[in-house]
Amino acid sequence: MIVVLGGGLAGLGAGYTLAGSGVSLLLIEKEPSVGGLSRTVHHRGFRFDLGGHRFLTDSEELRSLIKGLLGNELLTVRRRSKIFINGKYIDYPLRPLNALTGLGPLNSVFMVADYLKEKLKVPFIGDGSDNDILNLEQWVVRNFGRRIFELYFRDYSEKVWGRDCSEISKEWISQRINGLSLGSALKEAMLKRKNKGMRTLTDEFLYPSHGIGMIADRLKRAIEDKARILTDSSVFEILHDGEMVREVAILTREGLIRSEVDQLVSTIPLHALLDIMRPAPPAPVVEALERLSYRHLILVTLFLERDQATELTWLYFPDKDLPFGRLHEPKNWSPYMAPEGRTHLVVEFFCSEGDGLWSMSDEQLEGITMEALRGLGFFKSSEVMDALTMRIKNAYPIFDLAFRENLAVVEDYLKGFKNLFIVGRTGSFSYLNMDHALLSGMKAASEILRQNGTKEGNRKQCFLV
Ligand SMILES: Cc1cc2nc3c(=O)[nH]c(=O)nc-3n(C[C@H](O)[C@H](O)[C@H](O)COP(=O)(O)OP(=O)(O)OC[C@H]3O[C@@H](n4cnc5c(N)ncnc54)[C@H](O)[C@@H]3O)c2cc1C
Repeated sequence: MIVVLGGGLAGLGAGYTLAGSGVSLLLIEKEPSVGGLSRTVHHRGFRFDLGGHRFLTDSEELRSLIKGLLGNELLTVRRRSKIFINGKYIDYPLRPLNALTGLGPLNSVFMVADYLKEKLKVPFIGDGSDNDILNLEQWVVRNFGRRIFELYFRDYSEKVWGRDCSEISKEWISQRINGLSLGSALKEAMLKRKNKGMRTLTDEFLYPSHGIGMIADRLKRAIEDKARILTDSSVFEILHDGEMVREVAILTREGLIRSEVDQLVSTIPLHALLDIMRPAPPAPVVEALERLSYRHLILVTLFLERDQATELTWLYFPDKDLPFGRLHEPKNWSPYMAPEGRTHLVVEFFCSEGDGLWSMSDEQLEGITMEALRGLGFFKSSEVMDALTMRIKNAYPIFDLAFRENLAVVEDYLKGFKNLFIVGRTGSFSYLNMDHALLSGMKAASEILRQNGTKEGNRKQCFLV
C-alpha cells in the first residue's frame, strides 16, 4: 500500500499520479475537506481563499493539466495591487516611476542616491558576487538601496516574520525575486517589456471561477475514481524499524485503522511527522526540529452589504500602526466569489502561537479590523453584515539565519528511511508556491512508480524536494 499523508496540493499531486497508474493508494487528510493552504472557504453564499491564491507556472505540462481539470472555469485575471504607505497608494509590484515619485521629491532623491551608492560600492566588496550577504536586510539594501528598503520592504517583512529583517536569511527573498534590482526594474519599465520569467512582476494570472480550492476538489474527484481518500482522518502513529516505515495508525470518523506501508509520502508539517514516529527520533534531531518554526496566519473576513470596496487584487499594509499586513477582495478575482450586490474583504494577520495577535478573541480581531478599514473609507459601519475569523497554522516556514543547519539535521535523519518521501511546502519546510507543491508530489509519485516498476527494492532512497 502506498500511503500519502496530507490532502493539500502536494499530497493530491502525488495521489493523482499514483492513482492514474492503478497502484493501491490511501490518501489521508486531517481536515473535512482537501486543499490544505490552497482551499476555498464557503460562508453564507460567499467564497474566499486562505489569503488570495493566484496560479502561475512555468510548466506547460502542469498548465495543461489545470486547464484540463477546469476547462472554461479557469479565468485569466489582471493583477492590480497596491501598497498603502504614508497615507498613499503605491503600485505593487513597485513600478519604478510610481515608487520613486509617489512619496515626494525628497524621498525620490534619497532613493536614487542610496541605490547608486550601493552600486558604486559593489566593485570594492569581495568578489563582486552577493556571497557576503547573509540576511534579508543586506540583500534588499544591496539591490535597491537603503531608502527603498526602509520605505517599502522593512516594515512589511517584519510584520510577516515577526522579527528584524537582519534575522531572516537572504534565501527567502533571493528565491522569490532573484535577479530583480532597482536597475533591472527600471530597465524593464523603460523598455516596456512584459515581465516574462520574473514571476513576482507578472501582471496576469490564472484563477478558477469559484476559488482556488476548485483545483484540489477536481484532483480529489479524479483520484477518488481509482483510490481511497480519507478526510477528517488523522495519522497519529508511524511505526518504523529505523530503515523502513512499516505501518501507520489512523483515526478516522469510523474509528481506528492500521495500514501496512510499502511507501509513505508525507506532506504534513515536519513537526507533526516527527512527533508521531515510533520509535521517536534521536534527541539531536528533536532539538534541531524545535529550532525550526512556522509563522501562522489569522484571517478576518468582513462581509459587506455593498457592491465593491476596492478595485484591487491585493492591498499591502506595511505601516506598523495597522496590525494586519494584507487584504484581498475575492470579487475582484472572480465575480462568482460573492452574491450579487455584496462583497467581502479578507484581511491577513501574520502571527506566532501565543503572541498578542494569536491570543486575541475573534471579537477583538474583528473589531480592530472593522475600525481600521472603516477609517480608511472602504465601507460604512452599517454595511458590515457579518464577520468570520479563522486561524491557520504553519502558513510560512521561517527562514531564520540558522534554518539551513537545523533543517539539514532533520533531513539527514529522514533520509535514513528507504521508503519515505518528504514533499510539499509544509512537509519539506520550503517556500514553495502551488505549482511547485503540486510538482513535488508528482515527482515523488513518479519516482515511486519508477522504483516499483524496476523492482529496485532495497536501493530505494528517501526523496526530499
Ligand atoms: C497566505 C498564503 C498565500 C499564498 N498565495 C499563493 C499564491 O498566490 N500562489 C501560489 O502559487 N501559492 C501561494 N501560496 C502557497 C500555497 O498555499 C502552497 O504552496 C500550497 O498550498 C502548499 O501545498 P502543500 O500540499 O505542500 O501543503 P499544505 O497545503 O499545508 O498541505 C498539507 C496538508 O496536510 C494536512 N495534515 C496536517 N497534519 C496531518 C495529519 N496528521 N494527518 C493527515 N493530514 C494532515 C493538512 O490539513 C493539509 O491539508 C500561499 C500561501 C499562503 C500561506
